[in-house]
Amino acid sequence: MVKRVRVRYKGTVQGVGFRPHIYRLAKAHQLAGWVNNDPGGVTVEVEGEPEQIEKFLKASVEQAPILSRIKSVESREIEPKGEKDFVIRESERGEVVNTQVSPDSATCPDCLRELFDPKDRRYRYPFINCTNCGPRYTIIEQIPYDRPYTTMKIFKMCPECEREYHDPMDRRFHAQPNACPVCGPRLVLLDRQGREIPGDAIQNAIKLLKEGKIIAVKSLGGYQLACDALNEQAVKTLRQRKIREDKPFALMAPDLGAIEKYAFVSPAEKEVLLSPERPIVLLKKRSHPSLAPSVAPNQKNWGFMLPYTPLHHLLLAESQMILVMTSGNLSDEPIAYQDEEAMARLKNIADYFLTHNRPIYIRCDDSVVRVFEGKLYPIRRARGYVPRPLELHFSIPNSVLAVGAQLKNTFALTKAGQVILSHHIGDLDNFETLRAFEEGIEHLKKIFEIEPELVVYDLHPDYLSTHYALSLDLPKLAVQHHYAHTASVMAEHNLEAPVIGVSFDGTGYGTDRAIWGGEFLIADYFGFERKAHLEYIPMPGGEKAIKEPWRMALAWLERIFGADFWELPLEFLKKINRENAELLLSATQKGINAPLTSSMGRLFDAMSALINLRLEANYEGQPAIELEMIADEKEPGFYPFEFYSQDGVLIIDPKEVIKRAVEELELGEERAKISARFHNGVCRMVIQVCEELRLSSGLNQVALSGGVFQNFWLLSKIKSWLEERGFEVFIHHQVPTNDGGISLGQAVIGLRRLKDVLSGSNEG
Ligand SMILES: [Zn+2]
Ligand SMILES: [Zn+2]
Repeated sequence: MVKRVRVRYKGTVQGVGFRPHIYRLAKAHQLAGWVNNDPGGVTVEVEGEPEQIEKFLKASVEQAPILSRIKSVESREIEPKGEKDFVIRESERGEVVNTQVSPDSATCPDCLRELFDPKDRRYRYPFINCTNCGPRYTIIEQIPYDRPYTTMKIFKMCPECEREYHDPMDRRFHAQPNACPVCGPRLVLLDRQGREIPGDAIQNAIKLLKEGKIIAVKSLGGYQLACDALNEQAVKTLRQRKIREDKPFALMAPDLGAIEKYAFVSPAEKEVLLSPERPIVLLKKRSHPSLAPSVAPNQKNWGFMLPYTPLHHLLLAESQMILVMTSGNLSDEPIAYQDEEAMARLKNIADYFLTHNRPIYIRCDDSVVRVFEGKLYPIRRARGYVPRPLELHFSIPNSVLAVGAQLKNTFALTKAGQVILSHHIGDLDNFETLRAFEEGIEHLKKIFEIEPELVVYDLHPDYLSTHYALSLDLPKLAVQHHYAHTASVMAEHNLEAPVIGVSFDGTGYGTDRAIWGGEFLIADYFGFERKAHLEYIPMPGGEKAIKEPWRMALAWLERIFGADFWELPLEFLKKINRENAELLLSATQKGINAPLTSSMGRLFDAMSALINLRLEANYEGQPAIELEMIADEKEPGFYPFEFYSQDGVLIIDPKEVIKRAVEELELGEERAKISARFHNGVCRMVIQVCEELRLSSGLNQVALSGGVFQNFWLLSKIKSWLEERGFEVFIHHQVPTNDGGISLGQAVIGLRRLKDVLSGSNEG
């Protein structure tokens, strides 16, 4: 007896080889019928033996293409039609409306096999790809996702590629970037003058890398700078030319075994390293052997990734080198991605260019993640993850644009109950980044067909993202920075009831115009109350105190010891020009260029300077990061914070903490112990405040967010200590805990308050 079933698959099932997968399965189970894309998914009708249909349904999910993500399958029986054949139907018009643009994906195992098979026609072809892998997001100019709308439009497929492209049984059926050595992009090695170096580009590049040269490599989302990670001179040169003093460089290794030689890799970390997203994963260093010291000075971690394009695979497999593989830019500029621009901008950094003629349409940096308790903990969300949407638990169909913050900017757009978070844009403090931000917004609006009804922005009046938002002709909503952090965790975990938000970072504009950053909020999507925060302290010289953390140390010392602090036997004081510092402090006392801050980041800065660890920051967060890196993990002691109440708000007073640290420094205590006791003190303080807030509010859910929670000492101790006391604790797993996650929080607050704002009842 013949049955006919209609099945609907929802989720990421378009542009990922789902229709050919269904086609092959239907053929294998002797079923007739058809498959097509429709708005929001794939619809299939199959007709045949009931037993075969059962097997087909099971296999359709179990063997789904690696890039697909099935959210739901619905099937129902319908009248048989007596068809004999199975066909892929041309897409219905209107299909494009919900077509999801997929992220770029690492070379799949099938393509890898062909890449290294001397008998394959794509042997050593650096642009091999198929429906299961290759460039996507970075080559799409507009929708629908079809070759003429990608940067591959300039390459005309040869007959053999054409045949694969049209054969539903082939792995390259409708693989838009399909190419081969006959018809596709071509790799070249150029010198700084743009002259081609004759011979095998890969082999020549390897030879140059082994000689200690720096090579700009054109990757998926932009240019990378590569050099031999074991060659200290080469790495140092790269640092000098790139003007990057200490910030760690990312690494690429040929395989897992090579990584494990230098770092500890847990099973969960292995999985992430090997995932199709192929992010940079921060891994604990082994003490021996070591890579060149300049790769990651004063760090306990290496940032490793595995090859993710065929070009990387060839370079790494044939060289067996560990390469520094860092973003192709100068200092904090955005990554270079257009060929001429890259040649111009990188010609004083790179000695050679390993490049090709497949244009990159949208730039996208490598993603950076850590693994925490076996789960992803993003630091920078970009290539591989973007533009995969985040699902919300409430389905508000409206569209809002959330423009994010200033540093580590991302923006977000919402549509049909989903949030599309942009790739990491960078720090919005130069023209190039601002342009990338504005172009990025226009591009995502276009490819997702979104017309926002509201723009949400940070309360900070000077952020360039704020200026941009204010320039738009749209209803507007400003959201406080630390509140957005908290809402971002809430959105990831579908939390609806109010939570205790612990929001710690370096800088965020407060509702009282002070600089917040050590905040305890009680929040839901409709508002927040600031319940506790670090005691205010002036930042001597304003923003400059971020780059020169000794200023924060002086501010606290003066508050605690008065002008006598200069007599304290502290090493770091000897390095400071007392005359200038006294002028600075007297200006600070008069309130000249001395904004008040409750920032946890600045307290870490003060401590880092106080113990003479870091008096100047060469990159954001460096004093705090190095303070964490030296902390003695076995030390259980702590310095106690004190508390007092002011206008119903709990003020957290660190003076005793600093006093104890000074006393112990005088006694000659090790910095590793002092750092550990400081860290433990902060953890203990968080527990105390949360218990206090639980008592007064009855709330038991805690959301941890903000850049300070990139500190794993704090994250793991605070989380486990809270859990031991019966709290339910939520942290980030989908977006960064730093300001890269702000736009998600802004977006959900905007969505939930959209009606109020549009009706004018809750403006601002
Ligand atoms: Zn492939
Ligand atoms: Zn071809």
